[in-house]
Amino acid sequence: MSKDKKPTEDWLDDEPLESIKCTSTDCENDLHCFRRKRPKNESYRNVECIECGANLIDWDRLDQLDLSDIEYTIRSLNLELWRYYYWHKNIDERAILHARTRGIDELIPWTVKRLTKSLGRPSKDLWRDGTQTPRTGNVVYYAQHATACCCRKCIEEWYGINRNQSLKSEEINYFSELIMQYIHRRLPDLLKTN
Ligand SMILES: [Zn+2]
Ligand SMILES: [Zn+2]
Repeated sequence: MSKDKKPTEDWLDDEPLESIKCTSTDCENDLHCFRRKRPKNESYRNVECIECGANLIDWDRLDQLDLSDIEYTIRSLNLELWRYYYWHKNIDERAILHARTRGIDELIPWTVKRLTKSLGRPSKDLWRDGTQTPRTGNVVYYAQHATACCCRKCIEEWYGINRNQSLKSEEINYFSELIMQYIHRRLPDLLKTN
């Protein structure tokens, strides 16, 4: 969010760019990737950028799951191309309509329920972990990609929580709060509807 660089016009399309993947990089523009490819039994966290080797993030600080340090977490997420894309791309009409219809008061419990159902169990017990979060249609999906709580692999990469353990309720609450922060920032008027 602190970047001067503007997303290209393509990034603002309603349809997600098929060419952008969670392992894409644009290191020259300070958009990296910290996700290890096929780590087998190791962590998905690579610490340094997989492409240029830049060491930019204080991972211990992120692993605290400290809501009072949320600005640092959001700044860090924006150093990864995939996250940056979801922090900046246009949100599709259907997702905006859904969010307005539900209102923030309904979205909060809905999000907690969704996170519990699609991420609460260990990775191996989830159906095709890594594909459970659609890319459009709901602002919470955008938020999940932007904040790296779309799958257990991304959660392991970003928050150091072992993908083979169940999530604790305080972890789910933390992710839900991150998602609400995203919604407040991307759709600020949603708060004023009721
Ligand atoms: Zn890089
Ligand atoms: Zn993911």
